[in-house]
Parts: sequence; C-alpha cells; structure tokens
Amino acid sequence: MTAGGVRSWWKDPVSLLTQREGPLTRELLREPARFGLGQLPRDLLPEATTRSVCGYCSTGCSLDLHLKEGRAVGLTPSTGYPVNRGMACPKGWEALTPLDADDRLTTPLLRDAHGVQRPVSWSRALEVMRDRMTAIREEHGGDALAFLSTGQIPTEEMLALAVTARLGIGMAHGDGNTRQCMATAVSAYKESFGFDAPPYTYADLEESDVLILVGSNLCIAHPILWDRVLRNRRSPRIVVVDPRRTETAVAATDHYAIAPRSDLPFFYAIAHELIANDWIDADFVAAHVEGFDEFGEHVDLFSPEAVEATTGIPAAETRRLAQMIHEGERVSFWWTMGVNQGHEATRVAQSLIDLALITGQIGRPGTGPNSITGQCNAMGSRLFSGTSSLFAGRRFECEEDRREVSAILGVPEERIPRAKGLAYDQILDAAEEGRVRGLWVVATNTAHSWIERSRMEHALGRLDFLVVQDLYGTTETARRADLVLPAAGWGEKEGSFINSERRIGLTKKVRRAPGEALSDFHIVRLVAHAFGADALFDAWKTPEDVFASMKQLSAGTFCDFTGIEGYRHLDERGGIQWPCREADEAVTEGSERRLFEDGVFPHASGRARLVFDPPQAPPEPPDAEFPLILLTGRGSSSQWHTQTRTAKSPVLRTLSREVAYVEISPADAERHGIRSGQRIAVESRRGRVWLDALVTPTVAAGQVFVPMHYAEANALTLHVVDPHSRQPAYKHCAVRLVSGPEASEDEAWA
Ligand code: SF4
Repeated sequence: MTAGGVRSWWKDPVSLLTQREGPLTRELLREPARFGLGQLPRDLLPEATTRSVCGYCSTGCSLDLHLKEGRAVGLTPSTGYPVNRGMACPKGWEALTPLDADDRLTTPLLRDAHGVQRPVSWSRALEVMRDRMTAIREEHGGDALAFLSTGQIPTEEMLALAVTARLGIGMAHGDGNTRQCMATAVSAYKESFGFDAPPYTYADLEESDVLILVGSNLCIAHPILWDRVLRNRRSPRIVVVDPRRTETAVAATDHYAIAPRSDLPFFYAIAHELIANDWIDADFVAAHVEGFDEFGEHVDLFSPEAVEATTGIPAAETRRLAQMIHEGERVSFWWTMGVNQGHEATRVAQSLIDLALITGQIGRPGTGPNSITGQCNAMGSRLFSGTSSLFAGRRFECEEDRREVSAILGVPEERIPRAKGLAYDQILDAAEEGRVRGLWVVATNTAHSWIERSRMEHALGRLDFLVVQDLYGTTETARRADLVLPAAGWGEKEGSFINSERRIGLTKKVRRAPGEALSDFHIVRLVAHAFGADALFDAWKTPEDVFASMKQLSAGTFCDFTGIEGYRHLDERGGIQWPCREADEAVTEGSERRLFEDGVFPHASGRARLVFDPPQAPPEPPDAEFPLILLTGRGSSSQWHTQTRTAKSPVLRTLSREVAYVEISPADAERHGIRSGQRIAVESRRGRVWLDALVTPTVAAGQVFVPMHYAEANALTLHVVDPHSRQPAYKHCAVRLVSGPEASEDEAWA
C-alpha cells in the first residue's frame, strides 16, 4: 500500500469500522518504506552513524543517525538496542523532519507596543526578561513568579532550568507538563511503595502469562511495546479494560468494556473475589505488605454483583477475570492515561498496585503493577525537574535533604525552597486571580493541552509577562507570549532521557539549530547570567557536567545511579536502568533489571502499603441536557500530543486525519440522524466545537470520543483534578450533539 493508498482508506471512514489503525501500525513497523517512511537520500553514503534515543515517547527507542559532513541526513532504528530491536514507529522514522520546518524560530521575538511579536537580539530579549520578571518579584514577591517545565527535554536541561528558575530568579512555583500525564503514577507509587518506582523492565511484556492493560491503547500509543507483547511465547491472555473498543481491545484475548470511570469499584470487586476465594499470596502479604486486614474489610462491600450496575460488567465476567489472575503464574498490570487522567486516578492506580501486592505478582519476571509513561523524558522530569520533588526523590520539606542538595549544588542552604510550591492547576488558578503574574513556559503547548481551554486562556490572558521557549513561534502558547525564546530541538543538542523502564539513554547533537536558536541548556545559562546568577553554572559548562551533579544527587536514594560513569558508559551499554549503584555488578550491554526482587520496599518499614478509598462519582455525569460522555485519548501512532512536531511531516499527516473528528456509536448516530463525514457540533457546558462525525462501534452508545491532538478537545473538557496527584481528569465530562437549524458553524468556538 502506498502513502496515497493509506490516505484513501483514512478518507473512507467506514474503514475505521474494521479498526484499520491497529493492523496498519503493525504494517508500518514491519515495512515502513511502503508508507514513505525511512526514505534515505539516494546518494547517501553515510560517513558515520551514531546512536541516539528518540525524542517523542517514553518507550525510549534508539535510532541510528546517519551523518554526512557531520549532519544527520537520515535514520534507521537501531537493531542492537534492548528496547526497540530494530523497529521504530512512524514518529521515530520521521524524527528529523520537524527540524526543517519553515516556522522554526531563528531569533527571539518580543511583543511591541502595538501587540506585534518582532525579532530582537538575544541581549535585548534577556534584558527584557530580567527587567520584567524582577519588577514583578520586587512588587509582588517570588510567589508571583512560576515556570512550567516539560517531559520533552533532556534531564540535564530540566535540572538546569529548575535551578535557574528557583534559585537564580527566585520563582516560588514550578511544575511541568508531566502533571498532565504521569503525576498520578508518581503519587500512587510514592504512597504505596515509598518511592516513585515503576518496578518493571520491558522483558516483562514478553514473560507474562496474563497481561492486564488498563486504559492503555498500547497498539497505537506505544506500538513498540505492543510488538514486545506479540513476541511473548507463553501464549498469554491479553486483557484490555477500557470503555472503548480500541485497536488494542480488538487484538486482545479479552475486552472488559467497563462503563467510563467505573474502574475503581471494578478493581475492588476483583480484589473482593480474590480474597473471598483465598486466592492471595499469604506468605508474600505477611512478609512484605501492610494494611491487608483493613483492605479486606474495605473491599468486602464490593462483590461482583454489587458493582454490576455501575461497571456494566456481569458478575460472572468479573469473577472470570479474578480467576484468570489466580491461575496465572506471572500476571502483570499495565496502565497509562485511561487510569492517570481521572477524578480519583491515584486510588485507581493504587487499586492495581493493591491487586499485584495481595497476589504477590511483583518482583518476578512477567509481573508487576506497571505504569507506562507518556513523554520521552517524563521519568527524568519525575526525578530532576524540581517540581514535585527536590531532585532524585528528595523532599523540599526535609532539612537534611535541603542540606545535601545545597552541598552538591554549591548554593547556600537558605536559598533551597522549603516547599514545592503550586501545582500546574494551582499556578493557572493563581494567574486567573492575579497572584501569579510572570510565567516561563518551556517546551510545552499549554494553551492547547491544558484542560478546559477557555478557563486556561483567561488565566494566561491575565499574566503581566509570559515567556515561551520553544522550537516554533506558531504554537497556540507561543502566539500568546510577550517574549518567545528560540530553542534547539531533539537532534540539535545532547543530554539524557529516562524511559518508562527507568533506562537512562543518550540523545545526541546531530544537527545545528537554525539561526540563533540555542539549546535549552544554553538558554537557561544565559538567563542565569542575566539575573546575575552565573555562579549556579560554575560547575556546569556542558550537559555532561550536569549529569555528574545528577549522579551526586541520586547518591543514597532509591534511584541511585552513581555506578554510571558518564555519557560514554551510557552509549556503550545501550542505556542503563536505575538504580545502578557504584557497588552494583558491571552492567552488561542490554541488561534488563526489575525492582523489588527481594520484596523490600522503600518505606521505612521495608513494606508496601495497600491504599484505598471509597469510590466517588464522576463530577459531571451525563444528564437530560448533556446526555453523552466525552472520552479523549490518542488518535493514531502518527500523531504526538498537540501535533506541534508531527504536523510538520507530510508523511505523518498522510497517516492521520488532519481535520478534528468525533467517534460516535452507530446507535447514537441513528438517533441523531448523523452520517460519517458529516460536520456536526459537539457541545459541553464550556463550549461548542465543529467536528467531522465518524460513526463507529469503537465507542459504546452514550459515549463519544475526540482525540487529544486537536485543540477542539479541550474546548469541551471540564477542569477537574485528582486530589492527590492534581492530574487533570481529561477522560470524562458530559456533552451533547447539536445538529439542525440550532447549530451554526459560524458561532462555533473553534
Ligand atoms: Fe519509539 Fe516512541 Fe520514538 Fe516511536 S515515538 S520511535 S515508539 S520512542
């Protein structure tokens, strides 16, 4: 099939009825050239090839970059790397293309008195940033300043950014876009284990007897990991728990199409059944787990019959899953955003951790409660962005931690913040209320990706000064900025990423950034200089110097990686998973390591905790006025988040739909007289958008689905966050379809 052929089936919405994206993704992985991917220049005789970790998703694939005159001109997936073993998804194949986009920023842009963004020199840009931020700080204090970091830049840049923003500028608050994807897993692991520690290695996908995928459309969201599942030789049961009949659900052996946001009672019912039948690992629980009696009392209320009406799953089917878990020698639980982005997300994640703990399904091959991360360096952000923790899992509130950080970074102890500051949603709330007035946004497209767009736009509109640092001046957020700083992208700078299985890998500079664009490391260094804080960079001349500080910060913590010598060591070993202590045995190339094989958890007691709470109803259930539930999620393996980069690739655009669409069940389509391809209005209490209708059984009656890649999605969503992780609940709100004379596209929000 040619790229043109792909386009034609996408133009034919009926083909979606056959769930083509799943098989298509597998075809893309195996024969990329058929789809126009990986076309190397005909005259390419690479003078050299170097290996670098992909800069899109958390899978952390390695790509061989082929160089001519020192510049990458093509790429192929690395065959010997323990993650991807010679494969890349479409985004990886097209990783170089967005670097050549016409709208790359080449100079800083400053908004003038007429409201127009105009090119200025770096010295002018930095002078304005210093003067405006300082004026806000002097009038309103550091509480009025905040930064938003990202999971898309190397860890070294995150650490340099956090140190510069907090210690150099005096910003009281900082968070990152990982709040939108992984905060729930962080909160859940910290409370249950005592440290944010995803316990698995990717080999577990190949070594499991029963894989339970919850709110994870692995097939398209993490296609390389799905391929690892397909390599499993144990004939596993693959169970998908998801309201949607996703590509992964179609390919699975079992699909539990639970009612949206009924996951918590569903998993409590599974626990009820396991305990009622004495299908628990009593020895493991006695030796390694706290709170079993209380947990047993709690789930006693949740019999499969008691939750049947809520979940929509017949009691016999719930029992069948419990039995499957009992009979599996190696059972693993995998989750992504379907769990993390809910109003009680932390407790849902912990209900999966609870199931693994009571059945002793952890610390052995093919087991674990395993959160799969989203962004290429969300895991780096979790440890070193200085947002939810004081570097390497240390605590802002702990005097000893502050003292150690002060000694390692060479800054006075009194300058280390004693509190982590406001979370993302609280920063925007504070902006809306005029308490936060200056904001520095790095490599994230807040104005598109944050929940309930109109509210967020109001918050950004109230700021006195917005600085955006990005590759492109055309993102929704950069267009709103007072000052835009041009940044180098993936491939134009070096550093390290940490993937979902805790593997630290190298990303390398294989291109020059255009014009005056600079790496984020260099930009924050210049900013530190502008604020008179050069001393922060005394020990940091290169990203590898920052890596040396990261090692020191990790020393003695659960993620200790002091055994990694440096970049060359990472490169030679094909990435290295944390922990990797100095005393650990030598890490051989491609080694795979999992956590908790000794049953000892990071809590002071050495035990894991069972954590649970009564389920809460979703905040905005459907009603007579807004009778449908809106679900959001990934649309295809060719689109990434707000499409800032993937939309720059003609090939990736061909492999996905350019126009925003809504999936509607055949029953609802018939009720409203809607055909596939028709433009229809979808409305929530926050706004109305126009979308292409796609009639498909992927969604059940009473539900609609809009991919997150289109700005329209967050015009509809409702601003609700999980109380523990403060992660937004993107996956559930009430909407209605509007057609006929009362709908006019002219009045639509988008
Ligand atoms: Fe691998 Fe993710 Fe990059 Fe695709 S986007 S090549 S799955 S790391």
